[in-house]
Amino acid sequence: MNSVVVRTLFSLFVPGGLVVFTTAIIIYLGVLDKSLSALVHIYPYLVAVAGMLLGWRFNRSRLIFAILVLALADRGLLLSASTSNNVGAASATVGQTVYNAIGFLLPLNLVFVSRVKERGILTFHGLVRLGLILLQVFAVFLTCRYQEWGLAAFLSYSLPHGHLLSWLPLSLPCLLSFALAFLFLTIGFIRHESVIENGFFWALLSIFLAFAVGKIGPISTIYLATAGLVLVVSVIETSHSMAFRDELTGILGRRALEEKLLQISGNFTVAMVDIDFFKKFNDRYGHEVGDQVLRLVASKLATVSGGGKPFRYGGEEFTIIFPGLNSKAAISHLEKLRKRVEQTRFLVRGSNRSGKRLEKSKGMRGFRKRAKVTISIGVAEKNEKYSSPEQVLMAADKALYRAKKAGRNQTSA
Ligand code: GH3
Ligand code: MG
Ligand code: MG
Repeated sequence: MNSVVVRTLFSLFVPGGLVVFTTAIIIYLGVLDKSLSALVHIYPYLVAVAGMLLGWRFNRSRLIFAILVLALADRGLLLSASTSNNVGAASATVGQTVYNAIGFLLPLNLVFVSRVKERGILTFHGLVRLGLILLQVFAVFLTCRYQEWGLAAFLSYSLPHGHLLSWLPLSLPCLLSFALAFLFLTIGFIRHESVIENGFFWALLSIFLAFAVGKIGPISTIYLATAGLVLVVSVIETSHSMAFRDELTGILGRRALEEKLLQISGNFTVAMVDIDFFKKFNDRYGHEVGDQVLRLVASKLATVSGGGKPFRYGGEEFTIIFPGLNSKAAISHLEKLRKRVEQTRFLVRGSNRSGKRLEKSKGMRGFRKRAKVTISIGVAEKNEKYSSPEQVLMAADKALYRAKKAGRNQTSA
């Protein structure tokens, strides 16, 4: 159980959190102070080019929009800082208005980009989105140009003096915009829907740091570039996981298993796991419910103790690798797992397409049922007889066959 918590926390923090915190620590310690001016002439451009290339080649329009919004915000902020530094009350107000407008719009844009579906760039939806982004640039210009409209004054409304958050250089509308964005993105983050969702959360944190820590200048540029980098890394990781993860169950798939077997060294044990009478289950409840059960069983397998790594081998068969464990030790963990699966009542829902009688829940179309599922397990370890990973896998498969023959719902070595 603990290993599951650690794995979950790790996947929430890596890679986005790691990238943002590394940036924050480097800036805080002043490691780059001397090369900061050189870095701001390279880092943001590298991120922008990488983001644009990836977005184009992987057809990830949301990445392109996010990079565009970040680049526009960065240039706008630098402009606002240079305007504020000029003498004259009017220019100071213009600089402040640009700063406030960007602080207000940027978090909302990020939430928007995180929520919309991939619809390309040179498509109707893509062009509308591009238009919306450019329209905001124009709106900021108008807000500065026509101060009498009152928008600039609204955006500069600040927290009362002495308030808990009044040390932040952000106005109240900007803070509310960030709070709203954090609320939205934290929900996706906690649900851990995807690496990209996590990426948007960490990108927002980096954007917040750009505003909250330090003055507008090289440091804010670096934080905004880091926000872009987090998204770039998230897209790369998503593409990697699309190739290596099984789409239905979310656990690692056959390709990842093959790679693991090529890399594994030292002692290890392989377990082949197969769901009992799954064909009957499918015939009775339908393929869709069968898929639900596959997902639920996979999520149970992911909780296996002893450092076991589960993979979907194919169909309703799974493989668990225990690096550094002999079969005796692995069996004790597998037996616990098998009993947990046996004791679990999987809540399945669906429509009764087979026409057979099922427990109907009142007031619902279709059905909800607590189904019982068992698994059979075959185990083999690496030894003199089975020295290559392929041989161990085959031996585990033979052991699985024995477990099935002996009556199922058991572990055989
Ligand atoms: P046994 O106890 O001997 O393993 O019996 P079984 O019925 O589980 O074994 P068999 O290998 O004959 O059937 C496996 C079935 O698993 C066949 C197919 O209907 C089902 N199956 C395989 N892949 C999927 C899938 O992705 N989704 C669903 N719903 N069913 C699948
Ligand atoms: Mg099978
Ligand atoms: Mg089966």
